[in-house]
Order: sequence, then structure tokens, then C-alpha cells
Amino acid sequence: MNSQKPDTPSESSHMTPQADQWIKRDQKHVWHGFTQTSTYAENGPVIVESGEGNWLIDVDGNRYLDAISSVWLNTLGHNVPELDTALRNQLDRIAHSTMLGNGNRIVIELAEALAAVVPIEDPYLLFASDGSAAVEQATKIAFQYWQNLGSREKVSFLAISGAYHGDTIGSLSLGSDEFGSNLFEPLQFEVIRAPGYDHPDWELTAISLVSKHHEKIAAAVIEPLVQGASGMHTTDPNAIKAFADACSKHGVLLICDEVATGFGRTGTLFASEQCGIQPDLMCLGKGITGGYLPMSATVAAGHIHQAFLGQDLGPEMLYHGHSYGGNALAAAVALRHLSLITESNVLSNVQKQAVDLSQLLKKRIACIPGIAQIRCLGLLAGIELEASLPPLTARKVCTSAVSKGILLRSIGPVITIVPPLSITSEELKLIISVLEETLREELTLSKERTATWVLQITPSPCQASGNRLQKQ
Ligand code: PMP
Repeated sequence: MNSQKPDTPSESSHMTPQADQWIKRDQKHVWHGFTQTSTYAENGPVIVESGEGNWLIDVDGNRYLDAISSVWLNTLGHNVPELDTALRNQLDRIAHSTMLGNGNRIVIELAEALAAVVPIEDPYLLFASDGSAAVEQATKIAFQYWQNLGSREKVSFLAISGAYHGDTIGSLSLGSDEFGSNLFEPLQFEVIRAPGYDHPDWELTAISLVSKHHEKIAAAVIEPLVQGASGMHTTDPNAIKAFADACSKHGVLLICDEVATGFGRTGTLFASEQCGIQPDLMCLGKGITGGYLPMSATVAAGHIHQAFLGQDLGPEMLYHGHSYGGNALAAAVALRHLSLITESNVLSNVQKQAVDLSQLLKKRIACIPGIAQIRCLGLLAGIELEASLPPLTARKVCTSAVSKGILLRSIGPVITIVPPLSITSEELKLIISVLEETLREELTLSKERTATWVLQITPSPCQASGNRLQKQ
């Protein structure tokens, strides 16, 4: 390991013999998610050995600023002493015991702590391991809720274009077909599809669909405030509120997928809070353990859970439960993480850094020829490249940024910046200057463009939402 200061990336290339060797071993047996094995090595993968704060350290000792929070889940950085201690202490008791028909002390404590902070009345939590599973559970709960009540015709779902809710067949059905998922269409159930947040007044169409089809819609599912995987398309809290009100008025359950937005990412603990809504069901994942361990949860309002009460092993019961749901190690970390969010005042940091991030993007990135649009909300930012550029340009920009010590990732033509909530001003500036340098190098557009940009700020309680830089 080198002796670099923690706040500077390594200057050497990360493709040293050590990394090379590990990549070869990796390619032989590991099947990486959303990754083509044949080209895996070309895209400059980082083989991580350890972490330190907001930084990752590879097998050669090179340092990388984790500007994507290990795909949007790290909150307080890596190797947080308090979380390490919580994990070790729980390990001295038990790692896991089943939640099927039995309980576990630390899981009960976590459920109580989460119940006190989720914007849901009388909440009940069903734990799982991944965001997709939390969405799948919410879908099944919403479906069965109406069956239990005798409303047999309520079997459809309304979802938003551009949505991403996970990779399992159910969550894939709710998601849009923009993520390589159309291959699986024959396996998916049909949904009523409203326009995405990139459409002005999307909520008006969504509301009219709810009003027209409410008799057959069991639930509507949304990502509150920002559609992350679609490339950070943002919407106004008032639009979400209007849509939530329409669902409530027409007897359609509202599922808020806060897998990406939950646990502070948008400047409040949950994005639903900024919209002033109380969903019937909520999906939590990613940041729930601060990025430490796989855990997710479906939170159901008390009135939903009530409909599942009945005789032992009777038809009202939810026949669903994952083996590792409510893992004790994850629960211990999640419980400590929840209190650390308050103790560390990290939400204030998100609010401050979100403003700085949008200003830095406006000043330093928006003017680079080849940028089509920049969207940001809280600590979620998407920099969309012009469609005229070759398809893999965004990916190449990220590969190049990684070689300069900043771990970035693209989704199609969109470069995403999703730093840990504990990111510092200096680290944020470093991300932007490396990105600026890399973009200028990679985007070899011949002519200087004289685009004018305008910053539209959608106000929100935390002043961290809805910044959209648009070309005029
Ligand atoms: N919902 C949303 C909004 C997400 O962003 C994601 C993952 N990016 C998921 C669900 C799926 O979560 P997981 O990858 O943990 O299954």
C-alpha cells in the first residue's frame, strides 16, 4: 500500500501487474452484474482490497475516491469505527437466526427505531436482502391486500416510464424497458405506464390514468423526487404530492420505492418527507446499513398489515419470506447507522454539498461542448452527453476518470456522481476537476459551441432538490 495522503488519488495507473493478475483471476470465475465479461478488463475495473473513509484502496495500494458510493449505498464512508464496533459486538452474540415464525432481539430493536422515523402510520417491516426483493414484496403485499379484502378485480399496477425498481421479474415488470430488460418481456406482467419525470406535467397524465383505471389498479409505484437509474430525472415535490393525493382519493395504494433516495441521499432521511406524503408501502434498501451489509425492508402501513390478520396458516397470511431476511449482523449495523445519521449531522452536509455540487456542475461542467443536460438532486447527479457522440463515450470518460483516481460510473450516455453523504468540499472539488479534465480530453468535438445554460432550481425544504441545467 502506498503512503499517499487520504485526500489525494494515486498518480500511478491502477493497471499494474498485481491488479492485472487479480483481474485475470476475476474474469475466470466471477460473473459481474450489468457487466460484459469479454470487455471487463478493458473498462479498467478496480480490484478493491480495503477502504478508508470516502476512499477505496486497490490491491496495489492505489487510492480512488468512491464518487458513486459503491453504487449509491455508502453513506458515511468505508470503515466507519462505530459501524465496525456494532458489527463486531453483534458477532459476539449471533450472526443470524431465522425470522420465519421467530424473532431476534436486534431486529426488533431495529424495527422499532425505523418505525419511529418512517413517514408511515403504524408501520410493519418485512426485511429482505436487496432492493429488488423489497419491491417484489411490496408488489405481492399490495396485490394480496385487495384479494384479502375481496376486491378481486384490483390486480394491475401503475408505474412510471423510465422507472427502475430492480432485476427480479416482478420488479423488472414495474421498471421501464430501458435497461436491457425487454428481452424478458414475455415473463413480465403488464403495467399501466405513466410518462416519466422527463415529461413536463407527467403527473397530470398519471393522475388521469389513476382516475380512469382505479377499479383495476392495486397500487402505483414511484421513485419519490428522482428516477435514479434513468439518469437522475427529477420532479417537483408538489407533483409527487398531487399524484399521491389522487391515489388516495381513488383507493389506489401508493408504493414509494426509496431504495435509492432513502437514508439521506436527497437531504432528508426520506424523499417522501419533502413531498409531504405518507405512502401505504415503502421500499428501503441500499443505505439502510450505510453500505455495509445486504439488507432491505418493505414497510407497510398498519391498515395494510391489518388485512393480513386471520387464522394460523390461513389464506390471509403472506406466504413470503427470505432465508436471510432480518439478518442480525445487518440489523446491528443498520441500527447504529440510524443513530449515527443524527449524531454526525450528515443530513446538513448533504444539503450543503448538494448546493455546492450543483454550482460546481453549472460552473465547470455545463459549458463543456458535448454535454446535453445536467440533472441533480441532493447527492445524486447525472451528466448526460449529447446523443450525437459515440455510444460508449460516457463509459470511456468514466474509465479515464477511474485511472485518475475518481471512481465514476455511467448509465448509457449519463455519467453519474453519487458521492457518500460524508463527502467533503475538497473531495467534491476534486471529483469535479478530474471530471472536467477528463471530459475535455474525451469529448473531442471539433467546434466550440456557444450554448447558453440556465439553472432551474425547484425549491424544496432542504434546498437540495431539482437542479436541472438545460441548454437553451
Ligand atoms: N429500486 C431503486 C429505486 C433502485 O435504484 C434500485 C437499485 N439501483 C433497486 C430498486 C434495486 O435494488 P437492488 O439492486 O438492491 O436489488
